[in-house]
Amino acid sequence: MTGRCGWCREPRNDLVAVGFHPATSAGGVSVYACAGCVAARQLLPLAEHPVETDGTPRIRPSTTTTTRTGQ
Ligand SMILES: [Zn+2]
Repeated sequence: MTGRCGWCREPRNDLVAVGFHPATSAGGVSVYACAGCVAARQLLPLAEHPVETDGTPRIRPSTTTTTRTGQ
């Protein structure tokens, strides 16, 4: 996928769909982010959204990296 990242606005060739804007006619316009922004902002790829997604870009559910478990 080549185009512009929706976050950093840079032309990229590593874009991932992370959401879509519902459109009245064309069936929606996808929102893309580059791999760097996906990683930096913990964006959830559209392919991993729940089926009932409304297309709003989502943040990946926090996978806590802390190893402290309060023991
Ligand atoms: Zn970007």
